[in-house]
Amino acid sequence: MSLLNKLIVSTLPFVPKPIVGKFSKRYIAGTTFLDAVAVIKRLNANEMMATLDILGEDVFEKSAAGTLREEWKAVLREIQRHQLNTNISVKPSQLGLRIDKDFCFHNFKAIVAEAAACGNFVRIDMEDSTTTSDTIELFRRLRSEGFTNVGIVIQAYLKRSEEDVRLLVKDGANFRLCKGIYIEPSSIAFKDREEIRRNFMHLLRLMLEGGCYVGIATHDDVLINRSYALVRELKLGSTQYEFQMLLGVREGRRDSIVRAGHRLRVYVPYGEQWYAYSVRRLKENPQIAGYALKALFSGNHH
Ligand SMILES: Cc1cc2nc3c(=O)[nH]c(=O)nc-3n(C[C@H](O)[C@H](O)[C@H](O)COP(=O)(O)OP(=O)(O)OC[C@H]3O[C@@H](n4cnc5c(N)ncnc54)[C@H](O)[C@@H]3O)c2cc1C
Repeated sequence: MSLLNKLIVSTLPFVPKPIVGKFSKRYIAGTTFLDAVAVIKRLNANEMMATLDILGEDVFEKSAAGTLREEWKAVLREIQRHQLNTNISVKPSQLGLRIDKDFCFHNFKAIVAEAAACGNFVRIDMEDSTTTSDTIELFRRLRSEGFTNVGIVIQAYLKRSEEDVRLLVKDGANFRLCKGIYIEPSSIAFKDREEIRRNFMHLLRLMLEGGCYVGIATHDDVLINRSYALVRELKLGSTQYEFQMLLGVREGRRDSIVRAGHRLRVYVPYGEQWYAYSVRRLKENPQIAGYALKALFSGNHH
């Protein structure tokens, strides 16, 4: 990242929320479930699947986690009623992982059971490295209780991921593979761009050769092209993997993946708690973050 971009990114926390909100609109479906339904219907009409995210993380009150659990169950029933082609992506810290692991497990179990009853699937999002072991344990516990409609996320920047993948492949896990978005120390995470790419492809090969279904979650042309080559080499059918992208990012590339005959799923976040997610997205796109700063200094907040 250039010095200017680093400066822009480090200044983001001082940008007022309304300005961040204005520039992050493209990444978020809206504040209500019906906003998300409209976006998902458009995606589905264009031959894209979706995964729904109710924004919110780091919940520290059991009552708040319980409210979200019930919201998720209602959302699953509504997805079925609206006949949407979407699964759901749920953050463990939203359902109480930082309060009590067992409490979090029971919240997930209720959601995964509801999803099974509705013929749907739950992806457990992966958060920062303080949660990795607990999240993998949560996933394995759900699998050991007989649920097959649940999947895990692996971050290619983590040095531990190869060991995790080797273990999870034996369980026939359903994976999403991404680079990873949280800031982690170099003692546990690769920092070099090409090193992360190499590990991404190494892990993808382990997963696919192990017969596992993978959501290849990236907007990086280099990784998309190397993934195309790998699925060709392994002679995989188009139902054995999918590509995944975030709402509002690289829509032209997204269309070209669909036209090339690959499955594609778009991550669709909605809700009132949009701030933390938006800041992460803006940090990945300093150009837009830069516009937000310019708006701040020019006094153009509207
Ligand atoms: C569907 C999905 C689910 C994810 N789930 C998780 C998760 O559970 N845990 C986790 O840690 N991370 C998750 N991520 C984030 C991921 O780890 C990366 O941080 C993110 O995808 C950026 O990496 P990249 O592979 O796209 O490569 P990059 O090199 O970051 O991006 C490649 C190119 O895409 C474009 N681009 C990327 N981001 C943006 C943006 N915000 N705005 C505009 N253009 C952009 C730029 O042109 C950039 O050059 C997920 C990503 C996706 C797509």
